[in-house]
Amino acid sequence: MSKPIKIMDTTFRDAHQSLHATRLRLEDIVPIAEKMDGVGFHSLEVWGGATFDSCLRFLREDPWERLRTIRSLVKKTKLQMLLRGQNLVGYRHYPDDVVEKFVEKTIANGIDILRIFDALNDLRNMERSISATLKYGGIVEAAFCYTIGPIYTIDYFIGLAKNLRDMGAHIICIKDMAGLLDPYTAYELIKRLKEEIDLPIHLHTHDTAGMAVATTIKAIEAGVDIVDTAISTMAGGTSQPPLETVCHILKGTERDPHFNMELLDEIADYFYEVRKKYKNLESEYIGPDPKVIVYQVPGGMLSNLVNQLREQNALHRIKDVLEEIPHVREDFGFPPLVTPSSQIVGTQATLNVLTGERYKMVTTETKNYFKGLYGRPPAPVNEEVRKKILGDEEFITVRPADLLEPEFEKAKAEIADRVTSEEEVLSYCLFPKVYLEFLEAKEKGIKEEVPAPKPQEAKPAPSLAPTEFVINLYGESYHVKVGGKGHKVDGKRPYFLYVNNQLVEVIVEPLQEVVPSEEGKVDLKPKESVRPQPTEPGDITSPMPGTVVKIKVKKGEKVKAGDTVVIVEAMKMENEIHSPVDGTVEEIFIKEGDMVNPDEVMIRIK
Ligand code: MN
Repeated sequence: MSKPIKIMDTTFRDAHQSLHATRLRLEDIVPIAEKMDGVGFHSLEVWGGATFDSCLRFLREDPWERLRTIRSLVKKTKLQMLLRGQNLVGYRHYPDDVVEKFVEKTIANGIDILRIFDALNDLRNMERSISATLKYGGIVEAAFCYTIGPIYTIDYFIGLAKNLRDMGAHIICIKDMAGLLDPYTAYELIKRLKEEIDLPIHLHTHDTAGMAVATTIKAIEAGVDIVDTAISTMAGGTSQPPLETVCHILKGTERDPHFNMELLDEIADYFYEVRKKYKNLESEYIGPDPKVIVYQVPGGMLSNLVNQLREQNALHRIKDVLEEIPHVREDFGFPPLVTPSSQIVGTQATLNVLTGERYKMVTTETKNYFKGLYGRPPAPVNEEVRKKILGDEEFITVRPADLLEPEFEKAKAEIADRVTSEEEVLSYCLFPKVYLEFLEAKEKGIKEEVPAPKPQEAKPAPSLAPTEFVINLYGESYHVKVGGKGHKVDGKRPYFLYVNNQLVEVIVEPLQEVVPSEEGKVDLKPKESVRPQPTEPGDITSPMPGTVVKIKVKKGEKVKAGDTVVIVEAMKMENEIHSPVDGTVEEIFIKEGDMVNPDEVMIRIK
């Protein structure tokens, strides 16, 4: 126990994933990378998790190029990444050939340590990435997701850790993605792990509830080998505990890492400035939030829920949704809440609340979960709920990837004329749609701008046009003030307006541009609605605004109550909409790709 504590720094990955929606740009990593290399960290976490997707989707950076650049600057310190088992750095199960190739290229491009986990702690979903990492000479840090709930005893986690050891892990990681691990449980858990497992133990936690420093110190007392921190100016809140604070506490003890505090100070100052650029991505309140212990919801999931509800004009239902989550989680067999289960459970809870009936409407993801396509839930699911969702459809109990056909060679053939490396083929394989958009933007030389500051902080531009109006509509008067514009996401640009002093975000579709007219007034092209308002029980509407993904019926077709007639994407999930009645499709008012609102009839059944 007398060894100095080893520290992994998360500033280049989890810290900005947790604080800034994974938007830290390579240009802000490069100037400080060599100094970070000089600190003496056990490792730097620089890749994986959401960084791969975010690089392609938002930053228009090639994630492989990013990794190679960091590797060229960080010569001494080991580079680490987060890998979601069979999901790699994406949100679905990839076939084994893609997993194998991805791990091979990851190691070839500079990653030393792969932290591998599965959202359901279904070890079958980690087998292939672990064996591939061993095969290509990488270090396997096998993680179990820490969470709380009736089945989650210390013995349960010890059992998982022993299995991971037997699968070939070099390091065992406690992945406390939601910051739920309290100091005393951490002490007990780590004591037991150190007694029963002869491998280094690595603690990953978040400061969401304000417990992370205490948890980290108790973990160190219990003999943990490695802990995660972030540089202070990128730490705290939903991020990791602050590095310098942990160093100060350990000063003079046998676990003191003996880092150069002046160097840490320089790094902290650097990120103090950098962080300002990303301010508009931070949640308004970044202090400790002990409520996560009550709701057991990771910080990132909480901000997602708030955004989803705001989009549905239902922010006032947040408490109902938070109370629904534990019910949904129990029905689902107590999955840990981490990507993608956090999103699935969160959205389903939202649907249960907004539709007023549990599982009246389910997302495709919920359905797939109950089909077993994500793996084996930690505890049995609620069979009544499964029956309601699946009907007579079958579910699987095998490892989900056993049912997948190889994809790499097919993807390679599809994209061969546009890319040159296997790394690029992998990017396409993992995120086909996003990667094609990325390629197009690259070929056109489009670079996304750095996020704009929040409208209220924007300097008032010298402007001749009026930016405030009072509008009278149906006898009500609205005070509207133009705030400013945000950066484009998925080709859509948000504009910020204040209506009666409340900030609202308007997402403008590319076809529906805001046109400043010559008089300086802003004309918003009105969206034409050609669909009737619902009057009959067979008038099918969407419970929330969304986009029509697929129409499953044709005019004249007979349907039964409960049949899926249309799939609408809302809240980033696909939702199946069922016919409420038996009958015949009389009229279809929509086509695929249309935006729909709850007050419009999509399909009429007679
Ligand atoms: Mn994390």
